[in-house]
Amino acid sequence: MTNVTEIFGSMVFDDRTMEARLPKETYKALQSTMKSGKHLDLSVATVVANAMKDWAIEKGATHFTHWFQPMTGITAEKHDSFISPKAGGKVIMEFSGKELIQGEPDASSFPSGGLRATFEARGYTAWDATSYAFIKEGVLCIPTVFCSYGGEALDQKTALLRSMEAINRQALRVLRLFGNSDVKSVKTTVGPEQEYFLIDKELYDKRKDLIYTGRTLFGARAPKGQELDDHYFGAIKPRVSAYMKELNDELWKLGILAKTEHNEVAPAQHEMAPIFTTTNIAADHNQLTMEIMQKVAKKHGMVCLLSEKPFAGVNGSGKHNNWSISTDTGVNLLEPGETPYENAQFLLFLCAVIKAVDEYQDLLRISVASAGNDHRLGANEAPPAIVSMFLGTDLSEILEAIEKDQKHDTKQAELMRIGVHTLPKFPKDTTDRNRTSPFAFTGNKFEFRMLGSSASISCANTVLNTSVAEELRQFADELESSSDFEGTLHNLIRRTISEHKRIIFNGDGYDSSWVKEAANRGLYNLKSTPDALAHMLDEKNIELFTTHKVFTLPELTARHEVRLENYCKVINIEAQTMLDMVRRDILPAMSEYSAELSDALVKKNTLDADSSYEADTAKTISALMGAAHKSCKKLEDDLLASKSVSDMTVLADIYKTTILDDMRELRISVDGMETLASSKVWPYPTYGEMLFGIR
Ligand code: ADP
Ligand code: MG
Repeated sequence: MTNVTEIFGSMVFDDRTMEARLPKETYKALQSTMKSGKHLDLSVATVVANAMKDWAIEKGATHFTHWFQPMTGITAEKHDSFISPKAGGKVIMEFSGKELIQGEPDASSFPSGGLRATFEARGYTAWDATSYAFIKEGVLCIPTVFCSYGGEALDQKTALLRSMEAINRQALRVLRLFGNSDVKSVKTTVGPEQEYFLIDKELYDKRKDLIYTGRTLFGARAPKGQELDDHYFGAIKPRVSAYMKELNDELWKLGILAKTEHNEVAPAQHEMAPIFTTTNIAADHNQLTMEIMQKVAKKHGMVCLLSEKPFAGVNGSGKHNNWSISTDTGVNLLEPGETPYENAQFLLFLCAVIKAVDEYQDLLRISVASAGNDHRLGANEAPPAIVSMFLGTDLSEILEAIEKDQKHDTKQAELMRIGVHTLPKFPKDTTDRNRTSPFAFTGNKFEFRMLGSSASISCANTVLNTSVAEELRQFADELESSSDFEGTLHNLIRRTISEHKRIIFNGDGYDSSWVKEAANRGLYNLKSTPDALAHMLDEKNIELFTTHKVFTLPELTARHEVRLENYCKVINIEAQTMLDMVRRDILPAMSEYSAELSDALVKKNTLDADSSYEADTAKTISALMGAAHKSCKKLEDDLLASKSVSDMTVLADIYKTTILDDMRELRISVDGMETLASSKVWPYPTYGEMLFGIR
C-alpha cells in the first residue's frame, strides 16, 4: 500500500525541503526571489545549488538538466552529470550556482520561426524559480525558460509568465479601486483535465500510422462504438486500474495533485484531473503528466495515445482548462461574493472575461488550433469551432436585469443596482451544466474546453491572461479617472454587457442552428487551423501582446510561422504514412487475397457450385484496389506539386484543402476493403481489437 502523504512531493525540491536544507538567510532570499519574480543572486544560487545537489544525490540522481518547453509543444532536456574530475583519477559531484541559474543549450535545432539567426545558434535557459526543481529518472530537472541571446522567447513558458505579470499588474489596479490594499499579488489558477486513450502495446506496434502520427489514418468502424454509453464512468478494468494506480503514485511523487480518474465516453478512453494550481506550475505539471502517462503505460504493456483524434467514429480527446483568478490572500475573484460590494467586484471581473472572450475570440481559437485538434472542433463531439460563452440562466438573467435597469425578479423591490444589491445566490453545481459550450462559467471559474489533448496549455492560458489583463486595464483607466466610482462602475458594467452579450450563448452548441445564429451575431467560425492563423497577426492582436509586453512583434510573427509550418509538416507526415501503408502493406495483401479468391473461384466453377461470394468479393475488392491505387497517385502528385510552394500560408491552404481531401478519398477505398477482406489477411489490427482489446 502506498503511503500517499509520505510519497507526495518526495521527488520535489519544494518549500518544505528548502526550509529544511537551506541556511535560514538563503531560504529567505530565495523565498523573496520567488515572490517578486526577480533574478536570483549568484551567491544565493551557489548555496541553493549545493543543497539541491546533495538532496538529489541522496535520491539517486547522477545528472541534472534544465527542463524547458520549446515551441515544439513538448519538453526538452539535455542531461549533464554532476561529475567533476579530481587529481588521482577521482571525481567529485558538483553543481554550481551558475549551472542552476543559467544553461546554454544549442538552440539551432529547435523551431524558432526565423527568430534565431544561424550565426547566433546558442540560446540560454534560465531557472523559473517559482516552479520547483524535481527528480525524474535519476535526473535533477530545473524548470527553465528558453530565450535567444537577443532575449527573444524561444519557448512557451516565457510568454506565459509575462502574461501572468500582465494580469497581476492590471488586477491589482482594479482591486485597489475597490479599496483592497492588503492583496500583494494576483495569479491565475488552472486545473487541466486530461483525456487519453490506452491501447495494447502489441497492437500499437503493428500500426505504422500510430507509430508515426499518433493516430489511425485508416480503420473501418468496429461493430460497436460508444453508442451504448456504457464506458463513461463505467467500472475500471483491472489492467487500467493498475495503470492508474501507478500513474497516481508517479505523479504524487512529483508533487502533482492527481485527483480524479474515470473512464471517458469512447471505449478505451479515460481522464485524469488534478487539483488546480498556479498557472505556470499547472503548465509544467501538465507536461509532466503527459510524459508520465506515456511512460507508465509502456510498463503495463500499453500505449497511451494523447492525439486529439486517434480513432474516427468515436470521441476524440481534449483538455478542459479550468481557469480562475485569485489573490495571494486566498480570494477567488471569479467567486460571487456575499456582500453587495464583493458582488460588484465579481461582476467587474466577470465583465472583463466576457469582453475579453468576445474581443479576442479569434486568439482563443488560435490558441487551440492544430492539425490534430481540427478533427475534433466542430465535429459534434467537442465544442464547436465557434467561440461563445455559457453563463447559465441564473447569471444571464441577472446580467440582463442590470443591462436593462430592470428588477431581477418579481420578489425584488428595486432595480438591480451594482454596489447596492446582493446578487441572488446561484447554485454552484448546476447539474444541467452545458457540456456543449466551449467556454463555460462553472460557479467560480471558467472551463475553456477547446484545448486539444496533446497541446501544451501555455498558449491558451497566455491568451486568456493577456486578454483579460487588457480589459482590466481599460476598466482601471476609466474608473481611476472618475470622481464618481459607483456611478462609473455601474455604467461600465451595463455598457460591457450590452456591447458584448453576443458572445453569451446558453443553448446547444452542437445544434446546426447555432452556426447560423452565431453568423448573425457576427461571431467568428474559424473552422481550420489555417483559417484561424490567418487572424493571428491582425492589428488588434499585435497591439494586445505588445502593449502588455507578452510578445514582441518578431516573437509573435515567429510563432505564426512555427504554427503554420507545424500544421503542414504534421499533415505531410500523415500523407506519407498513408502512402507507405497502402502501397507496401495494404495493396500487396489485397492483391494476394484477390488471387486466393480467384483460385477458389476457378476450383468452384469446375465443381459448378455457387461462387457468388468469391466472385462478388473479388470484383468489389478489385474495384477498391483500383480506386486506392488511383488515390495514391493523386495524393503523391499533389504532394509533389506542393513542394514548389514557398509561401507558408499558401502551402497550409493546399494541405487544408487538396491534401486532406486526397487523404479522405484514399481512406474511403481502404476502409471499404477492410470491411470485405478476410480478417486473416488484413495487415493491421482492427478498430475493434484496439478499442476493446484491454480487458
Ligand atoms: P468537473 O468540471 O469535472 O465537474 P470540478 O468542477 O470539480 O469537476 O473541477 C474540475 C477542475 O477544475 C479540477 O481540476 C479542479 O481542481 C479545477 N478547479 C476548481 N476550482 C478552480 C479554480 N478556482 N481555478 C482553477 N481551476 C479550478
Ligand atoms: Mg470539467
